[in-house]
Amino acid sequence: MQEALYTISNGLYVLSSTAGGKFCGSLVDAVSQISVLPNLIMVSCMNTSRTKECIEQSGEFAISVLPQNTDPYIVANFGFQSSRDIDKWANVPYELKEGLPYIPTALAKIRAKVIDKLTYPNNTVFIAEVENAFDVRAGEPLTYKHYRDELKEECLKSFANRNAPKPEKPSFKQWTCTLCGYVYDGDIPFEELPDDWRCPLCGVGKDLFELR
Ligand code: FE
Repeated sequence: MQEALYTISNGLYVLSSTAGGKFCGSLVDAVSQISVLPNLIMVSCMNTSRTKECIEQSGEFAISVLPQNTDPYIVANFGFQSSRDIDKWANVPYELKEGLPYIPTALAKIRAKVIDKLTYPNNTVFIAEVENAFDVRAGEPLTYKHYRDELKEECLKSFANRNAPKPEKPSFKQWTCTLCGYVYDGDIPFEELPDDWRCPLCGVGKDLFELR
């Protein structure tokens, strides 16, 4: 059944809102226009999502329509973690418009005001009237299918890289210049360097190096 549902075209969007003086945001795929005159759209959020709570409190949200060439880290940042735990907007460049944050490279930036809400066991659907739209630009929108087929691995990698612990000082001792602090990291073992080898930074001889 899931394979059948995957054939329904969905885009990928960064949904943002604000509450209590803080921005929140999440990656969503269930966004559709459901009416013209008035322009109504719907968006579905997970009930556990912090963004869903912010939208309930503020009654407004913003949508950044992501282009296909979106930086995979943007997708990972908004898709793989919760605004409850971290400030996602501190990790990426953003643009503020009328008090809500957007992804600068978005194909369109859309602001909407909630007029109705449907609650289901796992999701909440917000029906909203489009209040304003900014910066429409040409480009291919990112679809959920493209993400699944082409982008998912890169997103996982970029997320892992960004969150990898910083390399620590190696636990083994290294030959270090006692005058300038230069640490020898050449391929030839330090002991085998010629006697006239000198520190590339300060010029002292091997005798002024020690294992630290
Ligand atoms: Fe030195």
